[in-house]
Amino acid sequence: MTEAQATPQTGKRVLLAKPRGYCAGVDRAVQTVQEALKLYGAPIYVRKQIVHNKHVVSTLERQGAVFVEENEEVPEGSTVIFSAHGVAPEVYEQAKSRSLKAIDATCPLVTKVHHEARRFAADDYDILLIGHEGHEEVVGTAGEAPAHIQLVDGPDDADKVTVRDPEKVVWLSQTTLSVDETMETVARLKRRLPLLQSPPSDDICYATQNRQHVVKEIAADCDVVIVVGSRNSSNSVRLVEVAVDAGARAGYLVDYASEISDEWLAGAETVGLTSGASVPEDLVMEVLDHLAARGFADVTEVTTADERLTFALPQELRRDMKAAARAAAQQTDALAASGANG
Ligand code: SF4
Repeated sequence: MTEAQATPQTGKRVLLAKPRGYCAGVDRAVQTVQEALKLYGAPIYVRKQIVHNKHVVSTLERQGAVFVEENEEVPEGSTVIFSAHGVAPEVYEQAKSRSLKAIDATCPLVTKVHHEARRFAADDYDILLIGHEGHEEVVGTAGEAPAHIQLVDGPDDADKVTVRDPEKVVWLSQTTLSVDETMETVARLKRRLPLLQSPPSDDICYATQNRQHVVKEIAADCDVVIVVGSRNSSNSVRLVEVAVDAGARAGYLVDYASEISDEWLAGAETVGLTSGASVPEDLVMEVLDHLAARGFADVTEVTTADERLTFALPQELRRDMKAAARAAAQQTDALAASGANG
C-alpha cells in the first residue's frame, strides 16, 4: 500500500454499546405479526404500533399488517394482534364483542406488572404507578385496577399523591423508565410515605436496565452519543437522557443514519452508539457505515451484559401453528398414500 492509499489516522472512534437493540419482548411481538401473516394471510390487524419503531411498523405494513388505533376499526370476525405494550382488560372484552380473533403480543414482563397490579388491588392497596401519562403501557396497566391506581409521572408528581392508608401502599412502574429517575421518584414518595412497599421484583425490565447500564459506562468518554430509535419509544428517549446525564457532551435520537447532521460530529473524536429495544440491528449497521464514511472507522464494542432471554410466541398462535402443521402433514401423507395406490 502506498502512502497516498493508506487510511488516514484520524483518531476518531466509535464506542458501540452492547447490549443494544431488540429485546426478547420486541422480538416475540414482531415474530408474532410475521407468523400470523404467514398462517392466516393478509390483512392482519394490529392494535397500536406493535412496537414503537417507525421502520419496523412500515416494514410490517408492506408485508400486509394493518395498524389501527382501536378495535372498532377492525372488521368483525378478523384477526387482531395486541401490541407488546399491553392492553387494559376492557380491550379484550371489546374484541370478544366484535367476534375478533385476538392474539396477545403483550411482553410477558409487562404482563407480570399487570398481575402485580391485580394482586395488590385485590388486597385493597393503593397503587402508585410510576410512568409517563398517556403511554400505552401505563394505560393498559392502570386499566387493570383503575380504582386503586394513581399515576406518578416523575419526581415532582410525588408530592401530589393522596392515599387512604399510608400502611397499605405500593409502587409499581412502567417497564421502560430511567432507573435513576425512578429511584428519585421513589425516594420522594418515601419521604411522605415511609411504609411504601416496593414491587416484588424489578418492574423496569432487564433490557431497559442493561441498555442504560452500558450507555452509562461509555458516556463520559463520548463527545456525542447517538441512539437509534423512534421518538415515541420510551426506552430509546431515556437512553439519550441517561447518556447526557452520565457525561456525554451531547446525545441525539435518530430513526435513520440519514438524520445524522455533520454538525453533530464536527470536532468530535469519540462517538457512542446504541439503539433502543425496538430497533433492528441493520439500522445500527447503517449508522456505522455513515460514521465510517466520515472518518469514524475505528469501532470498539463495549459489552456489559450477555442477554440470552427469549419468549415463546403467544399460546393462541402456537396452537394454530401446530394445527396447521398437523393438517399439512396429513395432506402430505394422504397424497403419498394415493400415489402409492395409483
Ligand atoms: S423493553 Fe422490556 S418490557 Fe418492553 S418489550 Fe422489551 S423486554 Fe418487554
